[in-house]
Amino acid sequence: MTLQQLREVAAGCGLPGFAAKQIADWLYVKRVTSIDAMTNISLKGRERLAASYCVGRFSPKAEARSVDGTVKYLFDGKGGRDIEAVYIPDRDRATLCVSSQAGCRMGCRFCMTGRQGFHGNLTTADIINQILSIPESQSLTNIVFMGMGEPMDNLDAVLPALEILTATWGLAWSPKRITVSTIGKIKELKTLLNTTKVHIAISVHSPVAEQRASLMPVENAYPLKDVLSLLRGYDFSHQRRLSLEYIMWGGLNDNLRYAQSLSRLLKGLDCRVNLIRFHAIPDSDLKTSDEATMTAFRDRLNDLGITATIRTSRGEDIAAACGMLAGKQNKQENDGSQAS
Ligand code: SF4
Repeated sequence: MTLQQLREVAAGCGLPGFAAKQIADWLYVKRVTSIDAMTNISLKGRERLAASYCVGRFSPKAEARSVDGTVKYLFDGKGGRDIEAVYIPDRDRATLCVSSQAGCRMGCRFCMTGRQGFHGNLTTADIINQILSIPESQSLTNIVFMGMGEPMDNLDAVLPALEILTATWGLAWSPKRITVSTIGKIKELKTLLNTTKVHIAISVHSPVAEQRASLMPVENAYPLKDVLSLLRGYDFSHQRRLSLEYIMWGGLNDNLRYAQSLSRLLKGLDCRVNLIRFHAIPDSDLKTSDEATMTAFRDRLNDLGITATIRTSRGEDIAAACGMLAGKQNKQENDGSQAS
């Protein structure tokens, strides 16, 4: 809960106004896991709180560890579906990739989460719990909203989560250490841009509208050109960063002509492009781009004045692509329940 929500809770439980700050301190600074531990709240007050509320912290139900140190954590999600959070250590950085929905309704062709369909929005508590409940919680340096789900499709939970993460009464993170990735639902993206200072990542994946629509149906509702035109109205030159995500598929969007088109599309936009190696998914004709092609693509973009880097693949041995582990687990559980 945000401080404002905690004020309402405190008032509803007959606690003094300052109790909301005390509760926030217990939850987000001292990180207690029970109301009983909030010892500067009167015993009667704690009893009234505990009658209607709980801290809401729950541990991951399973984990998969990669040889490269990446850890994928599974949590109970919504609609009986599991969700994932992925811990990615990298030299002096420790990033957590969090989920915002169980499944997703955006239906991107290349995504295992999209294939699972939509099973429900995570609550703010579900999102914050991913950050607070993993063993590496205290050593995290970065948070990216790039896990399962489309954050702009669950803004009512994502915005309070960002407030809790960045407020001084909350986890007091700098917004510069948080990135929210979206396919670009325009109205919600505008709200995110206007009400937070977090970094923004946009899933582009193709500069050609027809091809993008065939990969990401959202292109039909929110064309990339409109998303980019919204972004042109914001300053990404110093405090806030704009990244464009581009998954590379062999023989599909990895020809150098696409680099040319992409650079034309991004003209005048302060941004950088992340080229992402595709993790093959079952029953898909989409192929991974080879190393040499990706390098040539990156170099062409750099020559054209666009900063581009190839993102290192992590955790390939633990089904690293978004939604793969949860998809596998959900399938096993469904198969098991059908068998019984
Ligand atoms: S890529 Fe993102 S928006 Fe598209 S289906 Fe997967 S989770 Fe949803």
